[in-house]
Amino acid sequence: MSRRISGAKRPQMDRIGAPADQYFSHTDSLKWFIQPNDLECRWSNLRIQSALFTLGETHFGCGSNFLHSAALWQASAPSSARLHYVAAHPAPLTRIELRLAAARYLGANQSPPLLAELLAHYPATVKGVHRLVLGNGTINLTLLFGDAAELFEQIALGAAPQQQETPAPRVDAWFMPCSAHIGEGLGVSAAALSSNGTSFAALSQCNATAEQLAACGFLSATTNQPADGMLCGQYTAAAALAATSSATRPARQLYWHINRQAAALNPPQQALVLGAGIAGCCTARALATRGYEVTVVDRHPTAGSEGSGNRQAIVYPKLSLRDELLPRINLAAMLFASRYYRPFWEAGFGAQCGVLVLPHNEKVAAEQRQISARLKASENWVRLLQGRQLTAISGLQHTAECGLFFPQLGWLPPVDLCGELLRHPKIQLLRGQAERLVYCDANKRWSFLDGADKTIAEAPIAVVASAFGCRQFAQTEFLPVAKVRGQISHLAVNSESQSLRTVLCGKGYFTPASGGQHSFGATYNPDLDCSDVRQRDHRENIRQLIDTDAQLGKLFAASEIAELDGRANFRCTTKDYLPIVGGVPDVEPMSRDFAALRHDARSSISATGSYLPNLYIHCGLGSRGLGYAPLAAELLACEIANELPPLERTLRLAMHPARFLIRDLKRRQR
Ligand SMILES: Cc1cc2nc3c(=O)[nH]c(=O)nc-3n(C[C@H](O)[C@H](O)[C@H](O)COP(=O)(O)OP(=O)(O)OC[C@H]3O[C@@H](n4cnc5c(N)ncnc54)[C@H](O)[C@@H]3O)c2cc1C
Repeated sequence: MSRRISGAKRPQMDRIGAPADQYFSHTDSLKWFIQPNDLECRWSNLRIQSALFTLGETHFGCGSNFLHSAALWQASAPSSARLHYVAAHPAPLTRIELRLAAARYLGANQSPPLLAELLAHYPATVKGVHRLVLGNGTINLTLLFGDAAELFEQIALGAAPQQQETPAPRVDAWFMPCSAHIGEGLGVSAAALSSNGTSFAALSQCNATAEQLAACGFLSATTNQPADGMLCGQYTAAAALAATSSATRPARQLYWHINRQAAALNPPQQALVLGAGIAGCCTARALATRGYEVTVVDRHPTAGSEGSGNRQAIVYPKLSLRDELLPRINLAAMLFASRYYRPFWEAGFGAQCGVLVLPHNEKVAAEQRQISARLKASENWVRLLQGRQLTAISGLQHTAECGLFFPQLGWLPPVDLCGELLRHPKIQLLRGQAERLVYCDANKRWSFLDGADKTIAEAPIAVVASAFGCRQFAQTEFLPVAKVRGQISHLAVNSESQSLRTVLCGKGYFTPASGGQHSFGATYNPDLDCSDVRQRDHRENIRQLIDTDAQLGKLFAASEIAELDGRANFRCTTKDYLPIVGGVPDVEPMSRDFAALRHDARSSISATGSYLPNLYIHCGLGSRGLGYAPLAAELLACEIANELPPLERTLRLAMHPARFLIRDLKRRQR
């Protein structure tokens, strides 16, 4: 596909706030990007139910191309289809700058339909990948904030050049609006996300760009040369392979996470999910949104009856000054969760009342000051409160002199939330106690069997989301998860507590009241396997709060420990405090193929991983299930449906189920 764009003027360039950015009018977007990619015709011809079209943009600017394309998508594509728009920005606009840009360029009557939603969901300008779900789930926008080449490479599967046959999620069409950004690195990354037939339209300022693009496989039409600095054409894998120098190939990368066999099977869209806690419910919803028929199996008749069964659960962050995997994943998950839960909060589930994290010593206070300085540009996400500001926000008196406030977080009632997540025409909840999980090679289906070996449910795809219950199945027993008891306490509202407006966090947490009761906690007992509510645990929960802020002791002045109510249950934890999300490895062949790691942890092994066909796991959410589950479920659904992921590869690998095998081999523990 190629098209001659003649007589087109260069699009308007402008400067909004700090970063220079391009705005494309509706006419410019059409002429320069949408028509050269033939999008209207391709979209109106989409025939497959729940089809997905992925559109990439190398420079998001102020979002004009996205808004114009999304409007055209809504007008031309079938209502059951989904658009995934992936766009990069090295120096993203803040939400305020975006709003200003929209006000400057678009009169009130001209606003594209999705503008208000984009502004409402627009993330803090934190480096990394941000997935926004818009248009009732029909439009996903993935924003890559930071180096475009690096981030496009990070959302690719990471297949080695010799493994190009691996079915991988692909971009169907590219917008390349600013030639200055299309260096070799970005071209190579864009190529890694393209396949034969992927179209592109690029603005170029010199011939070098056409050569750079061609070297990456993006061949411009040889006839009908577009005029006036415009290039368009198609990606051709053979051209890319011929031109790729060994220098641009990733060196020494291990491909243990690539699950070639499972992806190749392309099974029917029917899935089983074991476990109706927050992990299973978010997973079921993410799959159902993609058109899968989902059967959720749980031993209880009501969702959220075990770990996810507290009256109130908070969505709370774990920030750090260190650029490590855990705080990076936690931040990505919290940002995603704050958008994911917004419709639930707006519908009256819990409250997006903000979370105030109080420091329990001077060292933590100093760290909080540094974190807030680092995230200065993201004040709508986190800001440092000092002195009287603390009381103004929380409604209580504090001993603490400062605290970090997260206005977009809050608390949720997990049982109601889980029930609501399962309320979807494509989801059914079945009661059953699964004792075994078996795969039938002949019909390529997984079954959960009960104690009498009777099938509870079967489907081609299965997700184990049964927390530490995963240890009971032969396929997942190798996962090193632990069962850790925790107790939450409940306190009736009193004259001291009634003015609380936000969630308070420190060593423990304390919620605003719901139904006349506050929740606070929680204890952490790895060695205790009983679910009795204990008075000593109530005492421990009170102590944690007073250790954080002595003034909080007043909340309990009028209460007797013996009068307190509570609930004890169990977390599923991992040693690295990270969730377990992804395909389940086939342990024996995988250990054999990667055995060389025992002798040299840096061995170059060309094998891909061995995985059980279409079996997945989502567990290990530890003490932060409400925060992690939405992003982990989105990640898993993307893996199952072969879509581009909502997270960098480095972070995905840190949560991958096979990480334990690879780590053990390197440490010679397997
Ligand atoms: C005291 C306490 C306080 C907490 N507070 C918070 C908080 O404020 N915020 C927060 O984010 N997190 C909190 N957590 C952690 C959070 O509750 C967990 O991370 C989360 O609930 C885990 O969800 P899950 O879906 O993985 O597990 P679960 O909710 O335990 O769900 C697993 C489901 O699998 C089912 N199941 C298991 N095995 C089988 C089987 N063989 N057959 C059939 N069904 C099976 C179970 O019935 C259960 O419904 C707290 C945890 C505790 C214990």
